[in-house]
Amino acid sequence: MATHNKAADATPETLHRIFTVPEAPDSTLSQIEQAISQNLNRFLQNHITATERSLADIERDFSDPAIPEDPSFVSDHTQFLLEKLVAQSVHTASPRFIGHMTSALPYFLMPLSKIMIGLNQNTVKIETSKAFTPLERQVLGMLHNLIYQQDDAFYQSWMHSANHSLGAFCSGGTVANITALWVARNNVLKPDGEFPGINKAGLFGAMRHYGYRDLAILVSERGHYSLGKAADVLGIGRDQLISVPADSQNRICIDALEDTISQLNRDNIKPVAIVGVAGTTETGSIDPLNALADIAEREGIHFHVDAAWGGATLMSNNQRHKLSGIERADSVTIDAHKQLYVPMGAGMVLFKDPSVVASIEHHAEYILRKGAKDLGSHTLEGSRSGMAMLVFACMNIISRRGYELLIDQSIDKAATFADMITAHSDFELISVPELCLLTYRFVPAKVQTALAVASEEQVELMHNLLNDLTKFIQKRQRESGKTFVSRTRLTPEQWQRRTTTVFRVVLANPLTTTDILQEVLAEQGEIAKESEFAYPRLMTLAESILKA
Ligand SMILES: *Cc1c(COP(=O)(O)O)cnc(C)c1O
Repeated sequence: MATHNKAADATPETLHRIFTVPEAPDSTLSQIEQAISQNLNRFLQNHITATERSLADIERDFSDPAIPEDPSFVSDHTQFLLEKLVAQSVHTASPRFIGHMTSALPYFLMPLSKIMIGLNQNTVKIETSKAFTPLERQVLGMLHNLIYQQDDAFYQSWMHSANHSLGAFCSGGTVANITALWVARNNVLKPDGEFPGINKAGLFGAMRHYGYRDLAILVSERGHYSLGKAADVLGIGRDQLISVPADSQNRICIDALEDTISQLNRDNIKPVAIVGVAGTTETGSIDPLNALADIAEREGIHFHVDAAWGGATLMSNNQRHKLSGIERADSVTIDAHKQLYVPMGAGMVLFKDPSVVASIEHHAEYILRKGAKDLGSHTLEGSRSGMAMLVFACMNIISRRGYELLIDQSIDKAATFADMITAHSDFELISVPELCLLTYRFVPAKVQTALAVASEEQVELMHNLLNDLTKFIQKRQRESGKTFVSRTRLTPEQWQRRTTTVFRVVLANPLTTTDILQEVLAEQGEIAKESEFAYPRLMTLAESILKA
């Protein structure tokens, strides 16, 4: 348990001090501030010790439910945080941490976030966020422009209009996807004659009025799990999130989508939205957005693009063509906390037509009055921080050209890594990177040769052993703490859609070098040999197949 020194009794004087006077300049807190402002990466490196403590051990440090009766000194508490929390944190900013979408941040965001927190503006309403509301609307305008590229007059008319929204700023891609599908659902079940619309009548009344047997949302089998949550909270149901097969490159099969839509039409099931993914979470693949837009237009279905991760690619004029068709989407999700290098809590949904948000408009008496410019009348969330300021800062400080460089570099690095894997005799590339995300696995050269001549049964056996081995390597590598990749399961066509466990790599940290990538492969090769089960079994099996 924490051993805090009691600072004082909780008197009016101690409270006054907490809200006004900072600790003495040599306190732990000011030392940290200094260290962070001198060199953030060094601070993290020195304080994240990544010892081999188990999660269960760490849980014991955080298991006392009692709220301390008396105050403690800030320095004492900070010391506790350094030892028990910071030391055991995950070093997401490390250039060797290449397994997830969470990466390093530009240093200037630390002091800027202090200003943001100090100002403590609440963007739900103008009365608590006078300058932050226009700023947030401008940020939404910038992202809208990045996608839809409308003319100046368009942005002058709608950016600051009380009854319109170019989009909604929210905590992340999940809420952005929910917001987009909320708009889509409410527009499908909109007011009609006497019927006041689903937002007033509710789902049961709406279904009775429109006479649909059911509703559905369509997305490829590679769609993000947040869409399942959206289907759930919107009353559509997870089973009605219809998973359309993906092709060998993990893109939605257009023929399968057409068949599904025909079937739904025959069954009187109304599609609420077709969701295209621009940068899937597992392989970074991009759906054929123009083909999806054609179908959505023909059928009159809302077209949403989930570009939470991949949307930032639009910043690069060299890569933007990969997302061609996104400008035809009715709504688009982009996470600034992924490839725009903003801290977490920054998602956005953009709407092509700034008036579609009328279907989710809410008003209240003391705030969000009709005709007021409060952002809260068009957002799912209520109180929100001034996070848009950090996106704004990045747009200005990094600039479009700076982002272009970051995006291009990441994509180049992924292509280089893919080449390294292909050239290496002991590795197999599973998904070729379209953006900066790829998957692969360790397959010793001898096993590769054996697989080529093995019987169906032997392939199956080796495949299962390889899945065990990949899992073993990934876990051991994570525990050793030197380098980190994540893992997932795919059904690659080159392996007759067998469930295949793979390493997953996201190359977003600009400080990751080719040498580090080499280290990752070398470490995986070493760890493989530590496996007492899968590795020896695979080698024996391969040898016996090759001898026969
Ligand atoms: C990350 C991601 C999401 C969810 O975003 P959160 O910010 O984690 O809520 C949704 N879709 C895709 C494709 C993503 O990559």
